Amino acid sequence: MNYELDNIEVRESVAKLCSNFSNDYWQTCDRSRKYPIEFVTELSKKGYLATLIPEEYGGLGLPISVAAAILEEIHRSGGNASACHAQMYTMGTLLRHGSDQQKRKYLPKIASGQLRLQAFGVTEPNSGTDTLALTTSAKLLNNKYIVNGQKIWTSRAEHSDLLMLLARTTPKREIKNKTDGLSVFIVDMRKVLNKSLIIKNISTMMNHSSTELFFDNMPVPVENLIGLEGKGFKYILSGMNAERILIASECIGDAKWFIEKSTKYARDRKVFGRAIGMNQGVQFPIAKAYAQMRAAELTLKSAIRLYEKGQNPGEEANLAKLLCAEASWSAAESCIQTFGGFGFAEEYDVERKYREARLYQVAPISTNLILSYISEHVLGMPRSY
Ligand SMILES: Cc1cc2nc3c(=O)[nH]c(=O)nc-3n(C[C@H](O)[C@H](O)[C@H](O)COP(=O)(O)OP(=O)(O)OC[C@H]3O[C@@H](n4cnc5c(N)ncnc54)[C@H](O)[C@@H]3O)c2cc1C
Repeated sequence: MNYELDNIEVRESVAKLCSNFSNDYWQTCDRSRKYPIEFVTELSKKGYLATLIPEEYGGLGLPISVAAAILEEIHRSGGNASACHAQMYTMGTLLRHGSDQQKRKYLPKIASGQLRLQAFGVTEPNSGTDTLALTTSAKLLNNKYIVNGQKIWTSRAEHSDLLMLLARTTPKREIKNKTDGLSVFIVDMRKVLNKSLIIKNISTMMNHSSTELFFDNMPVPVENLIGLEGKGFKYILSGMNAERILIASECIGDAKWFIEKSTKYARDRKVFGRAIGMNQGVQFPIAKAYAQMRAAELTLKSAIRLYEKGQNPGEEANLAKLLCAEASWSAAESCIQTFGGFGFAEEYDVERKYREARLYQVAPISTNLILSYISEHVLGMPRSY
């Protein structure tokens, strides 16, 4: 396949690193639900997870197109960046809204990998998509916020030192503007783990290290509040374009992996004395998935271009996430169909990637919510929720 690729050198060196982690490695991690620590350690050593951290804080200070290329290549190689992608972008809230002191304290250690900031606690069991309905509370008492409540689906909490937490600091009934009253905290989980913070693993259909968090009077020093109290929702939203772009890049990587795998198999597999790829019934779903992937990739590139110009590409980033997730799913569907029964055998990786690719139509934002965003903010229709 002759893709128009940018950042070729970075892609080649990421592909080289990934080639040291065979399909057997990913299959073993998947089967035993093991965190791919060796892979994450290698990525950290090379500085890839610090791509977006400015040089003055010890990062690479590179634009989002480079981070997107890194994540795409990991997925295109058959790996999965979900174990560590948040180390790349969760720090964005701190970078944009933290004080100089907070940035100097945390960012250099995050850049070196000494501190892992890859847990992001927003979703709660009873609020779900409706973030403004979250009830985990943080009350200021003697220079400390005391946190009580529960989060769900906090990925990688067991493999993170720090947690970016969104909690309610003003009860809903006391706020004038409905987006006020929530605040962001950087929580050093090492200090409270198994005391006022309990982490429980959630078993999922793919290897994802997701957890539930339970806070019971968890103290958070006042200096760990990011920005202004009550403005946390806006701070979290300000990172959404980057998150959408980076997840969309992973979807493109997955789509390319499925398409490359399908075309090779369709050429090699002989049934009725000829390659199955000679049948248009086998070719067309793959060709269609390829067309979908290329179109989605163009939308993603336009989101990246606008983002790097400093604009707010809400429309393009949401479209890219929607289309790239759909393209990877079409590619996954055509791949498992092309493989027939072998698609279900662990040794071919298709079933593993198939399970992994499905997530992106639900998290970090579901397809419906992107369609609601487009309906309201792009097409000017009434708000539906
Ligand atoms: C593996 C995994 C990892 C995750 N990691 C994290 C993480 O690290 N941190 C974190 O905070 N969260 C995380 N999440 C949570 C994720 O962001 C949510 O699952 C997602 O936002 C949907 O919320 P929900 O599951 O509560 O679904 P619900 O809000 O209960 O929605 C259920 C369904 O109803 C639809 N729906 C709801 N309201 C509307 C509406 N008004 N219009 C149309 N459709 C609607 C949704 O689209 C969805 O399909 C993760 C989830 C998973 C599965």
